[in-house]
Amino acid sequence: MKIVDLTVIPADDRTAVAAIAAEAQVNFKDCYQCGKCSAGCPMVQGMDLMPREVIRYLQLGKVQEVLNSKTPWVCAQCGVCTARCPQNVDICATMRAVRHAAKDAGITPVREADVFEDEFIKNVRAHGRSNEQYLAMKYNLRSGHLMQDVDSAPAMFARGMIGIATHNIDSRDEVSALIDRVLQNNGAAKEAPKGGDAS
Ligand code: SF4
Ligand code: SF4
Repeated sequence: MKIVDLTVIPADDRTAVAAIAAEAQVNFKDCYQCGKCSAGCPMVQGMDLMPREVIRYLQLGKVQEVLNSKTPWVCAQCGVCTARCPQNVDICATMRAVRHAAKDAGITPVREADVFEDEFIKNVRAHGRSNEQYLAMKYNLRSGHLMQDVDSAPAMFARGMIGIATHNIDSRDEVSALIDRVLQNNGAAKEAPKGGDAS
């Protein structure tokens, strides 16, 4: 039987895991694979790796498997996993850090999630709050899902949930500065370019 030495991790993979750990402020060795994170996650049905497995792969230096996984892009950032972890491993932050690392490497396994995040942040920057009708329009155009949720529009329009007018708040610059601070704190400032949203 071939013996696999799990302690031998290529230098590039070791560096990539360390960068993800640093951004998420997590020590992956803290995880003892109890699985409580996966058991509480509401999004597992759409995931190709369970949250526990993401951490395990990172422990083993298998960074390419994680970067190519749909899981961090399907993650809704609800924080349940992190709240349940008996070892205080911030799985939620790890998912964010993996997304940033994947995007830096040109890997976006769930392109729709990437498009939505970009458009949502641009929308909130431009208006100080989300204007759903324009967000949906931009998302549909960029994602190629041109008719997605179009059936719901008339009823939403009739109930005043969406409309033609945009609703801006007065302190848009402050909201934009707040977004900058959050993105800089998690190392993702480059992920959400400013401006350019005329919606
Ligand atoms: S809950 Fe925490 S310790 Fe348990 S598998 Fe998940 S990350 Fe590891
Ligand atoms: S933060 Fe993501 S991985 Fe964690 S429980 Fe929520 S959806 Fe699942």
